[in-house]
Amino acid sequence: MTRTNGQWRLAKRPEGMVRETDFEFGEEPLAPIEDGQILVRNLYLAFEPAMRGWLNDVPSYIPPVGLGEVMRASAVGQVIESKNPDYAKGQLVSGMFGWQQYYVGGGEAEGGGGRIAGVSLVPDGIPPYRMLSLFGGTGLTAYFGLHKINPVKKGDNVLVSGAAGATGSVVSQLARIAGAGKVVGIAGGKEKCDWLLEKARIDAAIDYKNENVGRRIREEFPKGVDLFFDNVGGDILDAVLPRMADNGRITVCGGISAYNDKELPPGPRNFMQIVVHRLSVRGFILFDHIAGAGEAISELKRWSEAGDLVVEEDIQEGFENTPKTFLRLFEGKNLGKQLLKIADAD
Ligand code: NAP
Repeated sequence: MTRTNGQWRLAKRPEGMVRETDFEFGEEPLAPIEDGQILVRNLYLAFEPAMRGWLNDVPSYIPPVGLGEVMRASAVGQVIESKNPDYAKGQLVSGMFGWQQYYVGGGEAEGGGGRIAGVSLVPDGIPPYRMLSLFGGTGLTAYFGLHKINPVKKGDNVLVSGAAGATGSVVSQLARIAGAGKVVGIAGGKEKCDWLLEKARIDAAIDYKNENVGRRIREEFPKGVDLFFDNVGGDILDAVLPRMADNGRITVCGGISAYNDKELPPGPRNFMQIVVHRLSVRGFILFDHIAGAGEAISELKRWSEAGDLVVEEDIQEGFENTPKTFLRLFEGKNLGKQLLKIADAD
């Protein structure tokens, strides 16, 4: 039986806000797999704001996706055929399998037989999609960002932007677990702010779409912010800078507010506050810290099993909705990790 592989490919480079029409759907027949290869049926696709950056033809920490190429994305799938002794039919695996229904990996092109680089087995006892949220890049980014880049200290006054998103929702809770003095999250809308208070159990939430962010930060932190974990940049970063405590730390995880801007936005107007408050500002890229993944995952697992850490996934359905689901990130529609279910496991 010849299978057909549905794929979403990059049709044109977005100008400004990414649109569904920047991608096009196509199908191609799948050739029989060769020795050393596996055939994976994708079950869940994961969406990250950084994928917007991969659509621009500019140098970055990873090459851009080429025009006409299948959109790069992490996914969880099930091995449905295997000619590789390291993977059995039926096994659940995760990796960068892309916006497609099937992924073929391994074989001569990838070093012959044996374990395939970047293809991990999903451990038993967890929902498979959790490999894309808490036990994937999201949980690791939150853990390394909060514990290794500018390590959180007991008693710190911590502020998190993008606090109800995939990374921010974990960071906010990890700060609480680490014994921060006060944890405040910034998010868009009442539903997200209620979630931060009731489910993430942090001290306060600021609805940046409906409140004066600068004033609220001053009220929540009269002595200033010791540690700011920033996912957003732009106006929110500008509002935070003058309200940092002396010798405060800023961890720059991302800047989603500008990812769809056609022109580079002006730099932070309050940049000189870095001098005034003697701040340490550090950016990081998850990939550089992967060697510590084992430690991070066992800690995240321990906290989630103890009920201290709640994991939120926003799971949409249907492969036809792939580009639409990506756009949800920039429309602020997702609470927690944005995922898309495209098939059931056998
Ligand atoms: P996420 O937070 O789930 O991203 C989507 C959320 O961003 C939306 O729900 C929305 O929440 C917010 N947002 C969207 N447009 C915005 C805008 N114009 N202004 C303010 N907020 C906006 O995604 P994530 O995967 O956890 O990523 C969060 C950040 O971490 C991103 O900047 C990402 O690039 C970065 N990141 C960095 C690394 C690294 O290695 N450094 C790794 C992973 C992720 P609201 O409704 O609250 O606006």
